[in-house]
Amino acid sequence: MLDAVVVGAGPNGLTAAVELARRGFSVALFEAHSTVGGGARTEELTLPGFRHDPCSAAHPLGINSPAFRALPLERYGLEWLHAPLPMAHPFPDGTAAVLSRSVAETAASFGPRDAGSYRRLVKPLLARWDTLARDFMSLPLTALPRDPVTLARFGLVGLPPSTWLMRRFKDEQIKAVFAGLVAHVMAPLSGPATSAVGLVFALAAHARGWPVARGGSQSVSDALAAYLTDLGGEIHTDYEVKRLDDLPPARAYVFDTSPAALARIAGFGDYYANYRYGPSVFKIDYALDGPVPWTAPEARTAGTVQIGASRAEIGAALRAASREGRAPDRPFMITVQPSVADPTRAPEGKHVFWAYGHVPNGWSGDLTDAIERQLERFAPGFRDRVLARATAGPAEMAARNANYVGGDIACGAASGLQLMLRPKISLFPYHTPHPAVFICSSATPPGPGVHGMSGHNAAKAVWRRLRQT
Ligand SMILES: Cc1cc2nc3c(=O)[nH]c(=O)nc-3n(C[C@H](O)[C@H](O)[C@H](O)COP(=O)(O)OP(=O)(O)OC[C@H]3O[C@@H](n4cnc5c(N)ncnc54)[C@H](O)[C@@H]3O)c2cc1C
Repeated sequence: MLDAVVVGAGPNGLTAAVELARRGFSVALFEAHSTVGGGARTEELTLPGFRHDPCSAAHPLGINSPAFRALPLERYGLEWLHAPLPMAHPFPDGTAAVLSRSVAETAASFGPRDAGSYRRLVKPLLARWDTLARDFMSLPLTALPRDPVTLARFGLVGLPPSTWLMRRFKDEQIKAVFAGLVAHVMAPLSGPATSAVGLVFALAAHARGWPVARGGSQSVSDALAAYLTDLGGEIHTDYEVKRLDDLPPARAYVFDTSPAALARIAGFGDYYANYRYGPSVFKIDYALDGPVPWTAPEARTAGTVQIGASRAEIGAALRAASREGRAPDRPFMITVQPSVADPTRAPEGKHVFWAYGHVPNGWSGDLTDAIERQLERFAPGFRDRVLARATAGPAEMAARNANYVGGDIACGAASGLQLMLRPKISLFPYHTPHPAVFICSSATPPGPGVHGMSGHNAAKAVWRRLRQT
């Protein structure tokens, strides 16, 4: 009998498997897709030689993840590459605010009226970032935090809605940047704890940047998989698990799946029936003839570029997709230009680029025109650079990965209490009604993103049980 079986080879499933294997447990992992990676993969989606990341591309949470930092992933080929700027947020007048590694440069980009407030907000938290990241990403706590004072201080500013945090600032630039950061997890700007979302992304930029992985996000998954294999773990691909009986006997089962799929597979009935899925995205992967012709020079050197003219425009786009059941006229967009940092992604002089805007769960329209109109607003001449495009709306997202229910790439709405307390309100979110079955996907804290911390935290719960029994 195996010690543990893991279902799903996304970053969380792979991390859970690695954490168990490196503690001497026998582990086998089963993945429905023909390759490992889940939301961290790379494919030639458009033209030969153009290596696109269909899902994750920028990795502020990956490089700052306490779980990844404790693993020898560099030895297995993972190399983080940095664009000169982690993130830029251009405005229609041709200026841009930025998140830079330097707090001073970032604060200066927000304008003189907000620079001091920003510095005072982030500097004390940045000074204790590594312990704060570990404590925050291990919530809900089942042991004392390493630095309760900093965690409490972070809670005071982080737990209120982002709209409260924005009251500290006077000008539009910084408000639009924070609104955009909150929109990365598709949370409504007025939701509880959304200030924490914005702050974590900003602090991560200052601490270690928002890098891409050399060769593509697949390198993150391949490094985890190679380490797992070295530790004696087995990986089975092309193996969709439909029932527990499909799996070999084991002392523990760990699911990197949606709560809905886990309930179906393990026969948990309506145990997760109250778990809500959120909006989806419409994503375009581009092969470009040259770099994106951004008007703002800062955007040309940034790995990630947020597109939203103002906090109001970003809020309206989020509301349209999450509450009003329609696609926004002017989508808020996250765009990533990996080849600014990583020349291996495209033939010489050419570029890969991706952009997505939010749309309602299950939406079936085509957002290409609205996305490209937004891009032309900030990068006139963009369309002339397009060599090829691959589009994916909610249906394609859901077909790529069963965890994206209705195309929800966060595997569960990040709104209300479900932003932090997922998939149930519980001190032990990785446990399920069956003592030998655990869940480790991004439907558990700390939520979406390539960081492996849900897998790490779930593995802790598993090894505690394995040692008890
Ligand atoms: C378009 C897009 C852009 C994104 N951009 C970023 C970004 O820039 N930075 C970032 O940090 N994050 C980003 N993310 C989010 C990130 O990819 C996810 O949050 C992360 O991959 C979640 O990891 P996971 O291990 O929980 O699940 P997943 O990565 O979704 O992996 C789950 C795995 O389980 C498998 N599986 C599911 N059901 C079964 C079954 N029944 N049997 C066998 N296998 C099964 C799936 O095939 C999949 O491989 C993005 C996601 C998308 C879709």
